[in-house]
Amino acid sequence: MNQDIINTLKDISSDLEICTNENMSRHTTFRTGGPASLFLRPGSLDDLKKVICVLKESKVEYFILGNGSNLLVSDKGYNGAVISLTRLADIHLEDGNTVYAEGGAMNSFIASFARDNSLTGFEFAAGIPGTIGGAMIMNAGAYGGEMKLITKSVRVVTPKGEVKELSANECDFGYRTSALKREGYIVLEARLQLQKGDQAAITEKMTELALKRKEKQPLEYPSAGSTFKRPEGYFAGKLIDDAGLRGFRVGDAQVSEKHCGFVINRGNATSSEIHELIEQVQKKVYESFGVTLETEVIMVGDFK
Ligand SMILES: Cc1cc2nc3c(=O)[nH]c(=O)nc-3n(C[C@H](O)[C@H](O)[C@H](O)COP(=O)(O)OP(=O)(O)OC[C@H]3O[C@@H](n4cnc5c(N)ncnc54)[C@H](O)[C@@H]3O)c2cc1C
Repeated sequence: MNQDIINTLKDISSDLEICTNENMSRHTTFRTGGPASLFLRPGSLDDLKKVICVLKESKVEYFILGNGSNLLVSDKGYNGAVISLTRLADIHLEDGNTVYAEGGAMNSFIASFARDNSLTGFEFAAGIPGTIGGAMIMNAGAYGGEMKLITKSVRVVTPKGEVKELSANECDFGYRTSALKREGYIVLEARLQLQKGDQAAITEKMTELALKRKEKQPLEYPSAGSTFKRPEGYFAGKLIDDAGLRGFRVGDAQVSEKHCGFVINRGNATSSEIHELIEQVQKKVYESFGVTLETEVIMVGDFK
């Protein structure tokens, strides 16, 4: 990365964390991925806005990173700047039942915060191992809940650098997608509309859902959760199982034996192995049932 750009970034603030050639395997739940040319961790929204300005002016491509729990980053890495939002993680209560969270706040922390304040509605997201920014982009959901149902508003930066407040309607949430994703918005903050509830019941629900996850999902291995979106009228995991792919491996990448919808890293998988496995699963399922499996996992970098 050009030293002049690094120097301009250093001038933004002494608090801005700047690394070069940062291995993305340290920042993805698959535990794979090569180096990002630049890795930036702003500690304030103001620094984030300045970082975006510098990168745009310098024509450096950038990528916003939450907790890396829905990403497959190429072994060749990312030729640009990865901006991690994990230091922007404030959570507090606003007027009664509204929880405010910065884009980098982890869902698990928000869920605990809501429980501690006897607020119900966020229990479903406690076990989704990402940030609220990533959850908004993906309209993350589980066990009948989804972000769409609890979002009051979202504050974003548009690709033109404007800061905008969007209502839940304007976010146009769909199945694992949103206008935020389509428009390339950066989620700075979210306001979540929860309801007063009984703290013991909230705790019980969170425990019950955590046990369900532990029982059904291969949480003992690195993964990015469900690899594929649910095709209409089918379940990805069942199609993969019926195609005879339970436990199918490419190197150390494997279709989980516990839950066929998950691709796992048995230990030393590379992103190329995971990518090849995904392609082979898609091919076999299409040949067997004529159903196209689309990935829910987002690919970052070059896989050719
Ligand atoms: C074990 C396991 C279980 C999972 N279970 C579920 C589940 O039940 N339901 C579910 O929906 N998902 C699940 N997932 C997938 C994943 O956790 C979600 O998609 C999550 O919302 C991703 O959030 P993240 O912060 O990790 O985002 P990342 O993976 O870092 O990024 C995902 C996308 O969001 C963008 N992004 C992230 N933050 C921002 C921001 N602030 N502004 C703009 N763009 C941003 C990124 O650029 C990228 O395009 C699971 C994953 C694992 C590993």
